[in-house]
Amino acid sequence: MRICMLLAAAAIAAAQNHTVTDAEVMKVHRSALLIDTHNDITSRTVEGFDIGPRNTSDKPTHTDLVRMREGGLGAEFFAVYVAAGYVDGNHSANRTLQMIDTVRHDIVSKYPKDFMLATTAADIEAAHRQGKIAALLGIEGGHAIEDSLRLLRDYYALGVRYMTLTHSNTNNWADSSGDITRQEVQHHNGLTDFGKEVVREMNRLGMMVDISHVADKTFWDALEVSRAPIFASHSSCRALANVPRNMTDEMIVALAKKGGVVQINFSCGFLTPEAGAAENASFAAMRERVARETEGKTLSAEERRALTARIRDELGVKQVRATLADVVAHIDHIKQIAGAGAVGIGNDFDGIGCTPEGLDNVSKFPNLTRALLEKGYSAEDIRKIYGGNLLRVMRGVEAAAASEAVRSAR
Ligand SMILES: [Zn+2]
Repeated sequence: MRICMLLAAAAIAAAQNHTVTDAEVMKVHRSALLIDTHNDITSRTVEGFDIGPRNTSDKPTHTDLVRMREGGLGAEFFAVYVAAGYVDGNHSANRTLQMIDTVRHDIVSKYPKDFMLATTAADIEAAHRQGKIAALLGIEGGHAIEDSLRLLRDYYALGVRYMTLTHSNTNNWADSSGDITRQEVQHHNGLTDFGKEVVREMNRLGMMVDISHVADKTFWDALEVSRAPIFASHSSCRALANVPRNMTDEMIVALAKKGGVVQINFSCGFLTPEAGAAENASFAAMRERVARETEGKTLSAEERRALTARIRDELGVKQVRATLADVVAHIDHIKQIAGAGAVGIGNDFDGIGCTPEGLDNVSKFPNLTRALLEKGYSAEDIRKIYGGNLLRVMRGVEAAAASEAVRSAR
């Protein structure tokens, strides 16, 4: 009896105080296959940045191979980001192919001992067993296909396994959250008939449908049309930071019901109400100024970053820093409303101007593991959030494509 009471008291104490040792953190961290679904270092590698060595230059990045190893990354979806500016003069396909090449040529082929190109869930696990980081391709911006299902199939053949239906720009077949309030943009009330065909062709091929960046109606249309689970590669919760890029609770629950997952974005502006308000205030003004100053010019990513920073200074836009605890709050919010099976990681490193304190770059993931353990998350939940959920979605998409192939062969 006495021992029972002592044990009960110890259990209560443990539940209240989840201090975990470094050894426990690393044990759980190493037991997970950490999959991140959005990294923009490709906008640097395409211009010659060497991902291999630790970047100590005066042009800092969030990502390099050394820090990916320190962070225990198991798989990375590198962003094949195609800026809206490439629509002018139909250069989107050209840019898409160059971005695909930088992943294949400047990352995978350059460091074959560290990276392995992966196109399936099984490939990701095989790379992990070999101690390599699986490298995957995700297109950001549906204008990349230049309204052609043929190009979509070409990109699939080159290894692309997700496509974000829009970036911040509405394209010819899908509305974006980035310009949905702009009267001068021609909108479609979600997806057009061709947009729905794009989703169905992605299902048939086995390419994941990514609804980050899209307008809310586009999300609902994609969810309805898709025969496979869909996902958000880098979005957070609107209930915690009210910006159009984040998802409402209703959207998160519906996505989860269909087997999908929301991969939490680390951008400060998407994490806290204060940073979100600053983000909303600056977004329209920034966009207008950047558009005015870049009209008729093609800027490198470096030049665009410098320009954006200068305009941000001139407009007096202040960045409000978020923290590791805010990231945990978003993960926990999704766990509360839709379960631990509905949340993952899509950090958006090297695509965001402000990172949370404590999660400053790709090397810092063990801090997140510690914070989740301290909050009482089980190792099993952490393994799901870090990669298990995404593997499930990928397998669901692969299975839907396979069953469609069987149907059409009959
Ligand atoms: Zn993005």
